[in-house]
Amino acid sequence: MSFDSLGLSEPLLRAVNELGYTSPTPIQLQAIPAVLKGGDLLAGAQTGTGKTAGFTLPILQRLSQLAPATGSAKRPVRALILTPTRELAAQVEESVRAYGKYLKLKSTVMFGGVGINPQIDALRRGVDIVVATPGRLLDHMQQKTIDVSQLEILVLDEADRMLDMGFIHDIKRVLARLPAKRQNLLFSATFSDEIKALADSLLDSPALIEVARRNTTAERIEQKIYPVDRDRKRELLTHLIRQNNWFQVLVFTRTKHGANRLAEQLTKDGISALAIHGNKSQSARTRALAEFKAETLQVLVATDIAARGIDIDQLPHVVNFDLPNVPEDYVHRIGRTGRAGADGEAVSLVCVDEHQLLRDIERLIKRAIPQEVVPGFEPDPNAKPEPIQRRSQGQGQGQGRRAPREGEARRGGEQRSAKPAGSKPQAQAPRDGRSQKPAAPKANPAPRRSHDAAPAGSNARGGGAKAGNPGALLGGKPRTDGNSTRRDGNRSSERAR
Ligand code: AMP
Repeated sequence: MSFDSLGLSEPLLRAVNELGYTSPTPIQLQAIPAVLKGGDLLAGAQTGTGKTAGFTLPILQRLSQLAPATGSAKRPVRALILTPTRELAAQVEESVRAYGKYLKLKSTVMFGGVGINPQIDALRRGVDIVVATPGRLLDHMQQKTIDVSQLEILVLDEADRMLDMGFIHDIKRVLARLPAKRQNLLFSATFSDEIKALADSLLDSPALIEVARRNTTAERIEQKIYPVDRDRKRELLTHLIRQNNWFQVLVFTRTKHGANRLAEQLTKDGISALAIHGNKSQSARTRALAEFKAETLQVLVATDIAARGIDIDQLPHVVNFDLPNVPEDYVHRIGRTGRAGADGEAVSLVCVDEHQLLRDIERLIKRAIPQEVVPGFEPDPNAKPEPIQRRSQGQGQGQGRRAPREGEARRGGEQRSAKPAGSKPQAQAPRDGRSQKPAAPKANPAPRRSHDAAPAGSNARGGGAKAGNPGALLGGKPRTDGNSTRRDGNRSSERAR
């Protein structure tokens, strides 16, 4: 199946072709014609499935074919794409530019943690498509620096993550300000009751599309456990990186403090490493990401949420320095490798304290992960498990699902209402007017592997995709997904501590 048969216009096909995409992914196969028809859409798809092109390509086509509503003096905002994190916003807007390269449409990205004035200037000059995080968009709405009265299309991307991060009220406030007649597209990896309620209130007879969850089909990713003593993990990681000459290694730690410490230790070991997490300024994160992509930085150490925006094709190595507290996060983490049909390797350094977490993960992915002891790093068979350190989680990743960290948390020094009671205030990300537009990831011009093989997040060639089956998406038994699991007593209290 090629892109030609999906009804896309020549300028879009040319851009897609230049990006090296030879065939559409399962989500694209279904979403593109559905969005082109003009109706609402509810899509179940994770990052890595090609969902961004799935909504961006048809939106670009619709906007370029339909003339904007008349009566507006300047170029009105016609499409709005909301994302949970600023990294994702930057990447989606980069995709809009890449796919819309041969069209005359204009786009811009806006998120918190950076100066608002350059965003106001861009809006004043006129844009067709805005990609935004909810908090900053509301700022613009309140300051009346954005005019959405002519909006035609709304996309909620990674809606589950947005709710997870406590954005529901912001989303509702945004929705209340949009014109009633518009096309709505909702993308979510999981379908909790909250998402179902949002979909019910937002969508009008939506087309339904679902591609299989990655955790059922992660076989393209080679996974391995290295059992090791708790205090020898860093040494083992250095050994593995050196021994295997690994480059572009994305390492996950449970806490921001742990990420900083590990990056410093690796640097001392002579391995170039930087940490990215929500306490880093946007410019520091952008710089670290750019160096990592350019392969001048060997290791990027990240917490779960900071890593969500990282989208590097065929990221070769993902390392879980700590296992995540929530099993679904393991699936998200390893999904950073082996994207869009490529193979990848995900290894986990597991100490005696983490055996229960490992069992939970194996239960979720429905398989045992192979284990390999590295000679010289044999774990002490008599070691006793200790409670997993949560001391630094007050500033870290594990503190709770609802804290809208990562820059959206605070706007203009204001505490967001969604922040959970008891969570510690975070350092305000410096406002850096200079870096209002991050060096978002470049679309990779190198030809990619074709989609003969389905992407990591799908069953083969669209076989895992179900269309028009409301039961699969909204009905039936609630899934054991990130949301529902996190909401149950034990886990959420674990994370909220
Ligand atoms: P997404 O799920 O939108 O984050 O996309 C995951 C990655 O797949 C991105 O790096 C895209 O550039 C890439 N991609 C999207 N569609 C295709 C395609 N049809 N063929 C090859 N790569 C693709």
